[in-house]
Amino acid sequence: MNELSRTAIVTGASRGIGQAIALRLAKDGFAVAVNYAGNAAQAQETVRAIESQGGRAMAIQADVADEQAVARLFDETQQAFGRIDAVVHSAGVMPLAPIAADDALTTFDKVIATNLRGSFLVMAQAARRLGRGGRLIVLSSSVLAKSFPGYGPYIASKAGVEGLVHVLANELRGRDITVNAVAPGPVATELFLTGKSDELIAQIAKQAPLERIGQPEEIAATVSFLAGPDGAWVNSQVLRANGGFA
Ligand code: NDP
Repeated sequence: MNELSRTAIVTGASRGIGQAIALRLAKDGFAVAVNYAGNAAQAQETVRAIESQGGRAMAIQADVADEQAVARLFDETQQAFGRIDAVVHSAGVMPLAPIAADDALTTFDKVIATNLRGSFLVMAQAARRLGRGGRLIVLSSSVLAKSFPGYGPYIASKAGVEGLVHVLANELRGRDITVNAVAPGPVATELFLTGKSDELIAQIAKQAPLERIGQPEEIAATVSFLAGPDGAWVNSQVLRANGGFA
């Protein structure tokens, strides 16, 4: 691999869906900047896994809600790899709180900062730095259609993200850059599994016609399609990869 290899930034790539995306894009031939918030050891694990399959990667810490940190993430990627061809924004959190709960505003502020402000900052940097043929893919969620109690802050953040996708796609008119969201249904990661009983997980799994929860690699495959040559004509879309969980 050389400096002319395609390069991707994947936020939230220390764990879960982001990690699977980083591994998949590395297999697809991208050099990958593996972003994480606090989990340096797991980010290094992702880097090691990519290197062991013959790919190129580096871990870069940055809180996606921090403007300077996001700019540094893009600077360091450009310095290390020379170019940025794809940006996948997977970093996110999902603490739940009913809207009228005493601590709901604290939860709301935290989720909006990480999920919506974080998306805004990553999308802004991507828009400045991607060249012709560039791909920007952000993670939304199929839970938007469900309106489950307790999901207010999270659903508000992801509804905002989907709105930004369509606006940015229009703002990038004429630059040959696609902007899309992937909206998974329930996927087997810490974000989904934490705090749920086996019974509840089984009940949620049954809601999709395919009657199971998704695997991170299945979301990575969807992102790979959008980031690769076959995804070139898909723009300003929300691709709901969810086994029919609608
Ligand atoms: P995980 O909890 O498994 O992983 C979250 C990742 O995001 C970690 O790498 C974490 O880094 C990183 N992260 C969290 N906060 C920040 C921050 N402020 N700055 C930078 N990185 C951060 O989540 P998933 O992989 O399940 O979720 C990935 C995306 O997919 C999210 O946007 C989520 O909303 C979305 N999604 C997930 C679904 C699911 O069922 N799992 C369903 C629908 C959508 P660190 O390890 O350092 O903490």
